[in-house]
Amino acid sequence: MRKIDIGKLAPANHRVLRDMNEIMVLNVIRERQPISRIEIAELTGLEGSTVSKIVARLVLDNLILEEGVGEASPKGGRKKRFLHINPRKACAIGVDLRPSGYAVALSDFTGKILHATELESRSDPQDAMAEIALSIRELHRAYCSETIEGIGVSLVGLVDPKEGRVLAGEGLGWGEDVPVGSMLRAALGMDLPVYYENGAWLGALAEIWFGKHKRPPSNLVFLDVEEGIGAGIVIQGQLYHGSCHGAGEFGHISLNPEGPLCSCGARGCLEAYAADPATVRFYEDRRRSKQDPGEPGASATIVDVVARALEHEPEAVDAVQNTAAFLGRGLVPVIYSVNPELIVLGGPVTRAWDLIYPVMMHELSLRASRFYLDHLSLTRTTLEARPSLVGAIALVLARSFAVPTAIWTDEFA
Ligand SMILES: [Zn+2]
Repeated sequence: MRKIDIGKLAPANHRVLRDMNEIMVLNVIRERQPISRIEIAELTGLEGSTVSKIVARLVLDNLILEEGVGEASPKGGRKKRFLHINPRKACAIGVDLRPSGYAVALSDFTGKILHATELESRSDPQDAMAEIALSIRELHRAYCSETIEGIGVSLVGLVDPKEGRVLAGEGLGWGEDVPVGSMLRAALGMDLPVYYENGAWLGALAEIWFGKHKRPPSNLVFLDVEEGIGAGIVIQGQLYHGSCHGAGEFGHISLNPEGPLCSCGARGCLEAYAADPATVRFYEDRRRSKQDPGEPGASATIVDVVARALEHEPEAVDAVQNTAAFLGRGLVPVIYSVNPELIVLGGPVTRAWDLIYPVMMHELSLRASRFYLDHLSLTRTTLEARPSLVGAIALVLARSFAVPTAIWTDEFA
């Protein structure tokens, strides 16, 4: 049960109750579209007349459309009319900032990405924001004749979601305490709401809103394996923030106190063994040991290593499976502390899923209780675009659906 904060009480007036039913219907339409009024009434338990009134209001607000005529009943009853979310109600912008590069995408109101642009990373945050602002303006001009609902920004490291400051972490190469939010707003010169969050958390949000799962997961960990390793934790349908907005840094679970140095300054963290740079380093060491010492070795990227693993190059297979073994070990404390029903992995290495999944499961089976594993699914992301980019869009659009329990915190309430 969620404890009520009596410092923030407000009576549930008629308007609130009306809104709650409206929100419920809107979300049923979003998840089950196309859907008829009768089906909505059956699913929500609301009276048919109440559903009709709510639907009329939602159509008037342009949030939903009524289209497509279903089969008439054999007894000659009225034909069914189907409801769905109006994709042209508004657009949303997602911005994904990573050390390796940036992505800017424009979606319709259902979250479908209409166009995305990739940008190279910049050493100066002001230059980066100027270029991103230019991309946003171009996308808006070319692909969206509606209003922009807002901009969601995915960042690396500890993020202050109100100001868009990157508080700690050298992830983007811009130093500490960088006011990314105010820089972007100044460069944009448009009066739009801008929201910020850590990329791994946005991956979790994206899986909840847009993931293709058999049923919506309520306890989920999204583990993002990229230049670093971070996680978004969803508990009982809500994204868990922690006391200073720092939850989910599983990349710094120590696997070996004598191990390699990690970016955090400690030794033997999961990240130092299993993030992309470690996978590439392992691969290059293997290659070097087989090469002529005089032969120059071309440096590989994580994308190369994964592609070569999929082509069965032995050193590349070893590299991704070595990473998988450490990921399996690193997931043990995650499973015991969070007890999720679903762990979703994102990042380039997950493209070699058939090579890494059995290794992770083997490591887990050696270390975690059968009982926990029987209640757990481990999958790769079900999203087609980068989860953090999709999550940045979800961060904007979720507000229109107003019961985003995954991000229901006081700052959004
Ligand atoms: Zn560390």
